[in-house]
Amino acid sequence: MMGPAHSLSGAMAWLGVGLAAAWADNPMPWPVLLTGALICAGAALAPDLDQKNATISRAFGPFSRWLGAFIDKLSVTVYNATRGRQDRRRTGGHRTLTHTWIWAVLIGVGFSAAAIYWGRWAVLIILFIHMVLAVEGLLWRMARPSSDVLVWLLGAASAWILADILDKPGNGATWLFDDQPYLWIGLPIILGSIVHTLGDSLTISGCPMFWPLSIKGRRWYPAGTPSFMRFRAGSKVENAVLMPVFMAVSGICGAGALYLAA
Ligand SMILES: [Zn+2]
Repeated sequence: MMGPAHSLSGAMAWLGVGLAAAWADNPMPWPVLLTGALICAGAALAPDLDQKNATISRAFGPFSRWLGAFIDKLSVTVYNATRGRQDRRRTGGHRTLTHTWIWAVLIGVGFSAAAIYWGRWAVLIILFIHMVLAVEGLLWRMARPSSDVLVWLLGAASAWILADILDKPGNGATWLFDDQPYLWIGLPIILGSIVHTLGDSLTISGCPMFWPLSIKGRRWYPAGTPSFMRFRAGSKVENAVLMPVFMAVSGICGAGALYLAA
């Protein structure tokens, strides 16, 4: 899938979790519902930072070129070191390491740990990264003609404002984990990353989310829906069917979560 569909599906997934949490008597205060949906929208784009030339890999200016090159190197190395008998040797890392569930969990746990150990500044940085990605994902081509600096300013401002709101008592810094503020922040990151792999598994190339489980002699088996159901990334199905459905479901889940929490 392309950026907007990934990001929308991320937001939808978090709003769905919000609805489920409200049902399970652990309702999210609205700032957690909103911030989580934005973080998840951003995190649902992040796995594609493994492509040096993708739009998204330019989101953080010169830094992202370095980051993209690094992730690409790391991914190829891990791929070739762990490939099964039937996996071809590869020279590019796209759709490998960052498209696995293990990566999703590691990255989410890593960000949660950073928030616990380093406190406010880590939270601000995590929010900033994901707000920039969310803007890139949700606004996509509309964000492109504007300058990078504008998107960064928007990301920084919203990170600052959201952190201030969350910090107020009862607004959700300690949602779900009473004495560990912002421990929950890794959850939308894990979820977004997993939702991305599910989105890619609907497209023709599939996604090796189950690494390192061996499937048919391949540890990087491109799992996905039955082939007749798959579509090309960026195709009509995505824009005309999936995105409107994602928006509708997001609206219903968000409204339901707020209603049950009230
Ligand atoms: Zn992808």
